[in-house]
Amino acid sequence: MFKKVLIANRGEIALRVLRACKEMHIHTVAVYSEADKDLMHVRLADQSVCIGPSKSSESYLDIPRIISACEVTGAEAVHPGYGFLAENADFSEQLQKSGYVFIGPSAKVIRVMGNKVAAIQAMLAAKVPTVPGSNGNIDDNDKKNRALANKIGYPIMVKAASGGGGRGMRVVHEESELADSIVLTRTEAEAAFGDGSVYMEKFLLKPRHVEIQVLADSHGNAVHLSARDCSVQRRHQKVIEEAPAIDLNQKAFTQTAAACVKACQDLQYTGAGTFEFLYENGNFYFIEMNTRIQVEHPVTEMITGCDIVKEQIKIAAGEPLSFTQKDIQPKGHSFECRINAENYQTFIPSPGLVKNFHAPGGLGVRVDSHLYAGYTVPPHYDSMVAKIITYGEDRATALARMRNALEEIYIDGIDTNIELHKKIVNSPEFIAGGDSISINYLNVSE
Ligand code: ADP
Repeated sequence: MFKKVLIANRGEIALRVLRACKEMHIHTVAVYSEADKDLMHVRLADQSVCIGPSKSSESYLDIPRIISACEVTGAEAVHPGYGFLAENADFSEQLQKSGYVFIGPSAKVIRVMGNKVAAIQAMLAAKVPTVPGSNGNIDDNDKKNRALANKIGYPIMVKAASGGGGRGMRVVHEESELADSIVLTRTEAEAAFGDGSVYMEKFLLKPRHVEIQVLADSHGNAVHLSARDCSVQRRHQKVIEEAPAIDLNQKAFTQTAAACVKACQDLQYTGAGTFEFLYENGNFYFIEMNTRIQVEHPVTEMITGCDIVKEQIKIAAGEPLSFTQKDIQPKGHSFECRINAENYQTFIPSPGLVKNFHAPGGLGVRVDSHLYAGYTVPPHYDSMVAKIITYGEDRATALARMRNALEEIYIDGIDTNIELHKKIVNSPEFIAGGDSISINYLNVSE
């Protein structure tokens, strides 16, 4: 096992990784920007190194600076968390070349999955169901594109192959909008992702977002940890997640989960990963794979008892999985609410001093957060400041605990979206769950 791990991230996920390392008796190195010296995990880490100014491009995204921090501290491996360099194949490759272990899959696999078109093609080969579409990049041949869109059937979506974070996609309702939409999406994708490749897929009208968590080791073993439902979204960004996903077509789920496991083995995937699907009328449609730990991983941990971050570290150290698919018997139900520092109606970010903070508690309540009274949320990064996770032996119990937790949590000094969460968890649609909530749920009521 590693003796020292460097955590190349900030906020709650850095603290989450630090906790896992400590449990495993691994020494920790925190790296932080000038805006982040007061982060909770920086205080708790065995060593900490300032890697640059607040601007991410000069700190958390600066590969040479992070590698230098490994050299200075003697860390053997790097956990990238999510966001920043977590899905950057060059980072994985450069770490390896410098003699350090990237806690995640190989650069080769990250490259394939980082390109949505390459990922779709890999999934087709592994017989994972995908959204009907071009299954490849499209050019600007108008006649060909019109024919293709007609074959798929409107509405369609034009998507950037290198898109991410809910950006780089556009819905096209009719043929007259097609050519312009392709040019616009291509131009935007070039500017935002440095890659103007775009493809087409059917725009599903009322899908749910259902995703399957996997773990795969370097010895060819792979398992799935059941499904999460992440349909409550705002602008294609998740707001509340739950596990397991309820009301699924069990036959389709079993087949799709088995195909995901096989895809991991075919691709020689290693580490934790998530296959994301749209789910409509009992069918799964692959949209993309995330090759990292995800924000919503705790709901899966709660129902499986598996510590996904510890498993990532063990896999990166070359250990085989200590369990098989049969050993994974999901039990109970779990929810996660993402608490953001933002106005709950305007969604305008609200950084600043947290004058007071009280975390909720009780049986089945977990809070993953770096907040404390006196901490100042900097304006430079993602606005998520806490995740409330609840567990119960059934969905109603987990939901009742979430309602309590949302009443109990108290954050003074900054605006948060807690009121939005309260509205959602008390709505009849959310209480019913399953097919009652599609990805359009919040956008419609906004
Ligand atoms: P990103 O990489 O930016 O997260 P995804 O491809 O995972 O992009 O899509 C994010 C969200 O966009 C999905 O959860 C869903 O809400 C919406 N979306 C993506 N593709 C489609 C589609 N074909 N039809 C309907 N909604 C879609």
